[in-house]
Amino acid sequence: MNTWIMDRPDDPDVLVIGGGTGGYSTALRAAALGLRVVLAERDLVGGTCLHRGCIPSKAMLHAAELVDGIAEAGARWGVKATLDAVDWDALTATRDDIVARNHQGVGAHLARAGVRVVRGSARLTGPRGVVVDGPDGGAFTARRGIVLATGSRPRMLPGLTADGHRVVTSDDALFAPGLPASVLVLGGGAIGVEYASFHRSMGAEVTLVEAADRLLPLEDADVGRQLARGLKRRGITVRTGAVLTGAEVLPDGVRATVRTARGEEVVVSAERLLVAVGRAPVTDGLDLAAAGLAADARGFVAPADWSRLETAVPGIHVVGDLLPPPSLGLAHASFAEGLLVAETLAGVPSRPVDYAAVPRVTYSSPQTASVGLTEEAARALGPVKVNTMPLTATAKGMVHGQGGMVKVIAAADGAGGEATGRVLGVHLVGPHVSEMIAESQLIVAWDAEPADVAQHVHAHPTLSEAVGEAFLTLAGRGLHQH
Ligand SMILES: Cc1cc2nc3c(=O)[nH]c(=O)nc-3n(C[C@H](O)[C@H](O)[C@H](O)COP(=O)(O)OP(=O)(O)OC[C@H]3O[C@@H](n4cnc5c(N)ncnc54)[C@H](O)[C@@H]3O)c2cc1C
Repeated sequence: MNTWIMDRPDDPDVLVIGGGTGGYSTALRAAALGLRVVLAERDLVGGTCLHRGCIPSKAMLHAAELVDGIAEAGARWGVKATLDAVDWDALTATRDDIVARNHQGVGAHLARAGVRVVRGSARLTGPRGVVVDGPDGGAFTARRGIVLATGSRPRMLPGLTADGHRVVTSDDALFAPGLPASVLVLGGGAIGVEYASFHRSMGAEVTLVEAADRLLPLEDADVGRQLARGLKRRGITVRTGAVLTGAEVLPDGVRATVRTARGEEVVVSAERLLVAVGRAPVTDGLDLAAAGLAADARGFVAPADWSRLETAVPGIHVVGDLLPPPSLGLAHASFAEGLLVAETLAGVPSRPVDYAAVPRVTYSSPQTASVGLTEEAARALGPVKVNTMPLTATAKGMVHGQGGMVKVIAAADGAGGEATGRVLGVHLVGPHVSEMIAESQLIVAWDAEPADVAQHVHAHPTLSEAVGEAFLTLAGRGLHQH
């Protein structure tokens, strides 16, 4: 194709559509590599993660931990403290201040890098053409490429409508006027589990309904089971293998019917029904067809070349939640994708994203953190060695007193099936495991074997010591685990 590109001063090398974590990371890296970048954003830079996702939810979960700490202080440690009340307005003010400061930070980074942020809704007009409809918009021709980073939005169940009041999405839950006394959470993925955990800490009666036979159905079966046990211990009613069969919105709440795993119909009444059944890619108004592209059956835009995240139209790349699996719908995956695409467009060597080594974390109480393959997926590849160790087998695990586990999976190579192969997966459940998984992601990414890990000494007493102990045992050098 012979495309004549008019050289206009406003035309960037790279035009990024969407200023979420995927889009802004692409823009920052591309600008750092000397490319001229325009970033079109129709709402706020920072996107879902900063304004409606990772950051506000983790801020709220931090407050939830403080509340849980007060209960634990009295129950276990004789530290007599009482919780007077949770001031929702104060809680959300602190949360929103953290979001606002981060938002300002992202804007400052982009400005310092020389990225031109154009406010408005962008649509494709051809393989290099973009029009941004907005106050400072216009028509642009991207000399090197276009990056689609339009992200995702909450998915709704057919037949249900979010009214932002009684039937809410994770977006609405942030901006609710107060805390409900009871919540029915639909969806046992990370978002549903985190919100169920948060509301329980805040004193609500919580029912969590998941259609699959376990929570976090994409994770190792033991993770889902341990998590369910931990949530039940905290008083959350967990119903797996259960489906919503009806929901009636009443003036003071929602009356839902749920078919349980045993086929019984139960009625769950709650002030709020929080629907967290997944996220749908956003391509509305983008006019993919104008560039010769189409979304797949599920609405994702799939790359033709995953090593460059480039679509079948040369020069059009995709990052973030718009990508289908094996991308993960996680902010940190989108950062890595942004780096890869920016470097690719700049002609700098860049390695493909190693999705198998991207950690997956749920910040509930208890937390879960995993990297690599589930036991089921690992066994499908060949013989494996598995070691599961309770966190409470360590002194620090006992101090925290929240249960939990470390599960490590390695390929069983060699005669007799001793675990001499590489580590395939690590799965953690318990307190602070979101901070403990970093070590395991290197173990998996660097193809380490249990004996390699066992060689390294972990600080005593720590929770991460349990990871070291689990690998010591797998390497045949068990110390406290037999
Ligand atoms: C409640 C919740 C908690 C989460 N917690 C975590 C977590 O703890 N850790 C984690 O890693 N991930 C978490 N996520 C997921 C994370 O938020 C997403 O993976 C991440 O935001 C995806 O980034 P993105 O850039 O692909 O899309 P988005 O962040 O959705 O950004 C897309 C941007 O594109 C803009 N846009 C769309 N169409 C156009 C257009 N035509 N023109 C101009 N602009 C457009 C939108 O306004 C938006 O700002 C969470 C998500 C939710 C909802």
